[in-house]
Amino acid sequence: MKKVGFFQSIRLKFIIIYILLLLLAIQVIGAYFAENLEEELLGNFRESVDERVRLLTYNLEEQFAKERPEDGSGPTLQDDIQQLLYDFDSEEITNIQIIDEQSRIIGTSQLDRSQLGRLVTGDSRITRALIYGRSDSTIMLNRNTENRTLVRVFPIENGGEPVGAVKMEASIEEVYDQLKEINRIFANGTILAITISALLGILVARTITKPITEMRKQAKIMSTGDFSQKVNVYGGDEIGQLATTFNDMNDKLRLAHLTTEGERRKLSSVLSNMSDGVLAADKDGTVTLINEPAARLLNKTFEEVKGQQLIEVLNLEERGADLSEFQETGSLIIDFSDEEEFFLIKANFSVVLDESEQVTGFITVISDVTEQEKVERERREFVSNVSHELRTPLTTMRSYIEALTDGAWKDEEIAPRFLDVTQNETDRMIRLVNDLLQLSRMDHKESNLYKEKVNFVSFFHQIIDRFEMNKSEDIILERKLPNEDIFVWLDKDKMTQVIDNIISNAIKYSPEGGKIKFGLSKERMRIKVSISDEGMGIAPEKLDKIFERFYRADKARSRKLGGTGLGLAIAKEIVESHQGHIWAESKEGKGTTVLFTLPLMKKKRGNAK
Ligand code: ATP
Ligand code: MG
Repeated sequence: MKKVGFFQSIRLKFIIIYILLLLLAIQVIGAYFAENLEEELLGNFRESVDERVRLLTYNLEEQFAKERPEDGSGPTLQDDIQQLLYDFDSEEITNIQIIDEQSRIIGTSQLDRSQLGRLVTGDSRITRALIYGRSDSTIMLNRNTENRTLVRVFPIENGGEPVGAVKMEASIEEVYDQLKEINRIFANGTILAITISALLGILVARTITKPITEMRKQAKIMSTGDFSQKVNVYGGDEIGQLATTFNDMNDKLRLAHLTTEGERRKLSSVLSNMSDGVLAADKDGTVTLINEPAARLLNKTFEEVKGQQLIEVLNLEERGADLSEFQETGSLIIDFSDEEEFFLIKANFSVVLDESEQVTGFITVISDVTEQEKVERERREFVSNVSHELRTPLTTMRSYIEALTDGAWKDEEIAPRFLDVTQNETDRMIRLVNDLLQLSRMDHKESNLYKEKVNFVSFFHQIIDRFEMNKSEDIILERKLPNEDIFVWLDKDKMTQVIDNIISNAIKYSPEGGKIKFGLSKERMRIKVSISDEGMGIAPEKLDKIFERFYRADKARSRKLGGTGLGLAIAKEIVESHQGHIWAESKEGKGTTVLFTLPLMKKKRGNAK
């Protein structure tokens, strides 16, 4: 969050409001005060002037009323007046003129006496005083000096009749100067008050903005998931209450956060510890989460699939575009096989709904079903193989028996041949069923091994001897067996079956005859037996498969040779039940070597199993 600039801050607003309010108050007070003060000062000034003039008028009236000798002895009215004006002393009053009934100036306070005896004309105030006995008060402005003067005119009366007038001028400028001075003080005070109130405003605003700023900072910290700190509560006012509420909220949020965090951890531990893979997507089908098993199954990291479409990640683009369709189909088997590996994944889809039944996401659970599928496929293959293998001899027998019943039984030459074929086919079927039974017993671990201590060298010789007696002439058996005794713990019957099958294969699949070599070597903990022929060989890609049930490298030829394709599968089961290992090496056209190992008997363990 950006820091609030000073010009947008509450602090500045506070200060401005403060100052504006103060200015308004001062303005109102100032206007009222100045008005009243002016009136008061002017009133006072006027009164003090009036006071003096009234006294002077009283004295003048006395002089006007005074009886004076006709002969002109003694002082004249003019002299007396002049005397009075001499005695009159006032700072404010600058000029006094005494005017008689004929509008003549008979006395002046000025030193310049030239005015005396002059007629005053055109002054209506004096005329009004002389005729009506009315006094007058005017403030005059001197255009030149800009000075204001108070002009007072009083009538001088004798027996109720006006006999003259007094005109007095007083400079009022001093009063205005005084007012100006007061206003200046007032203005200074205003500036001082504003400065102080601005400072106060800053302080007051700080007390409000400081907790707010702190709360803002704390909210920012809280948004990062840190609920450990609290804001200071500076008082019980609204902001203090806000801070308390804020701290309460912090506590509650912390609790809620802890709960969600706990749930999240639980969920993530469940997700990472389950064996199935889980993928979550939002409502648009974008992957938002995958757990570790899912990452392992898909061989992709979360970073790689994050933001991708779930359908894309699961290679489902071709099967449909809508995830919710998959939910209805239940589970899907998705083929992730490549050239090297067969790999199948089973996916279960479910939709996450909110309270208003709106889709908010998808959850897909995936698991590796390769093994399961393999087993299932093998089982199906096996059943079809068995049926096929049984049907072939049965159909052959059926056609021969049909021919016999149709009359061939009477033919002494054909009948025995036909019966021979049915007997062979029956033998083949019995052999097949026996082989299957043996395999099934081994599968169910029902066939018990009757192990005994056997000298493998002489045991091997005996078997080869048996073949030597029955072999055709064009086959040479070459033995490379050690001269010492090598003891192995084994089931003689079963092991005979293994070696018999390998040798008869070697003979069967070497049509041109050739050499069959027998080898036996002793390794650290085991013996290695090898039987090589110079026959047709096996293609490299088929080498492992010949040990599978019913597998025949060349189906037509094997069947002609009477093979069922179970011999090596049984051999493998038997060798492995002896803790051995069997495999084949071959070069096509050159020959095949089948090898197997068996663990050597441990001397220290003696004869114990
Ligand atoms: P069965 O042994 O049940 O009579 P079979 O010999 O056909 O029948 P296996 O012994 O299991 O079956 O052998 C499986 C297949 O491996 C054979 O069909 C054959 O194609 C191939 N095979 C086995 N041994 C050899 C060999 N020495 N040379 C060439 N191919 C071989
Ligand atoms: Mg065989």
